[in-house]
Amino acid sequence: MEFQPTREFAKELDSRDELAKFREEFYLQPDTIYMDGNSLGLCSKRAESSLLELLASWKRYGIDGWTEGKYPWYYLSEQLGAKMAHLIGAKPEEVVATGSTTVNLHQLVSTFYRPEGKRTKIVADELTFPSDIYALKSHLRTRGFDPDTHLIRVKSRDGRTLNESDIIDAMTDEVALVLLPTVLYRSGQLLDIELLTKEAHAREILIGFDACHSIGAIPHQFSQWGVDFGFWCTYKYLNSGPGGVAGLYVNEKHFGLAPGLAGWFGSDKDKQFDMSHDMEHAQTAGAYQIGTPHLLSVAPLIGSLEIFDEAGIERIRKKSLALTRYMMQLIKSELSGYGFYIGNPTEDHRRTGHICLEHEEAPRICKALKEKLVIPDFRAPNVIRLAPIALYTSYEEVWDMIHRLKVIMEEQTYKKFKNEREVVA
Ligand SMILES: *Cc1c(COP(=O)(O)O)cnc(C)c1O
Repeated sequence: MEFQPTREFAKELDSRDELAKFREEFYLQPDTIYMDGNSLGLCSKRAESSLLELLASWKRYGIDGWTEGKYPWYYLSEQLGAKMAHLIGAKPEEVVATGSTTVNLHQLVSTFYRPEGKRTKIVADELTFPSDIYALKSHLRTRGFDPDTHLIRVKSRDGRTLNESDIIDAMTDEVALVLLPTVLYRSGQLLDIELLTKEAHAREILIGFDACHSIGAIPHQFSQWGVDFGFWCTYKYLNSGPGGVAGLYVNEKHFGLAPGLAGWFGSDKDKQFDMSHDMEHAQTAGAYQIGTPHLLSVAPLIGSLEIFDEAGIERIRKKSLALTRYMMQLIKSELSGYGFYIGNPTEDHRRTGHICLEHEEAPRICKALKEKLVIPDFRAPNVIRLAPIALYTSYEEVWDMIHRLKVIMEEQTYKKFKNEREVVA
């Protein structure tokens, strides 16, 4: 259908949307347009009910909840891993629900970073999420290497995106490990995961990916591409709730590799309660768990993943691309002349779930949007991230959001706010 800038056109797109019915599964606030599902996904009724089910099993069974009830706790991390596996493109036993993004990153780097001879360096990039860099530097330090010389951060040519060829150029014979995001959190650029994995392996370098900004938004083929390891949070596109338990993936060719950070929940499940001081770790991704799972923060994921099973990740990606394309068309037709710049890659194969709208007044434009009941996401210094979510955002909301923003720019109401960020932004 040919783009038209009218509300009727948005309604027409909604009427043809095969995922529209999932919207009513989510808790949406009246008149509020939520554009921040890439930072914290909204609560669904199914996530709520699986959380309540878990509480009920605690009430009813006490300690026996480990093996009784609708979702026996002892096997839940592995079962949810298996349920997430298709989202990352892996075998069921290659994925487990555990820890947090940063904890899993520490676990996997301590397992896979094995400096040897002159292969001692780690390649990352200068646009990645700070936690990843802090973690990598700490690993280099604990192994006695100087992060200034041993952490290579591939530079961006434009401050927004990375060139795969620059990353490949950094893969020298001094590199032991490459750790990259699948998607850059600011610009939303999707990297060519398959190509980077192939090039790393051709140089005998291990490679892992932080999939926080792609899980639940795009399909992946980690097993097929041979990615060595990966990890992600579940509270963004996967809607598992604040602090929801994360995921990790280890390619089966590495099963048997001793966990860098060992703990009793990484044991073979039949042997764990032998209480031996000699650990026999699981021969699956489960080996990289550490301690008792945070079950109340695991529980909402049970319900949330059911929705992904029904909606299907291919359909989610298709609608997400249509929503972001539509938003970019509206930005061009309605907001030209107000000083905005679209900072995300615009091609389908390099763009993910959010639009990166840049403006020098971004901090206070975000405040003005909130006053108008639009929830954006500010990233310093000048980025307004806007994420229309395939499962719960309508085309009409995208239209409305752009028009609320247009009024803010026309009337310059943002000028009554200070141009600084809030504590959490
Ligand atoms: C959200 C995000 C994180 C957050 O890590 P936590 O341990 O969950 O706080 C890490 N890396 C990236 C790329 C993210 O987008």
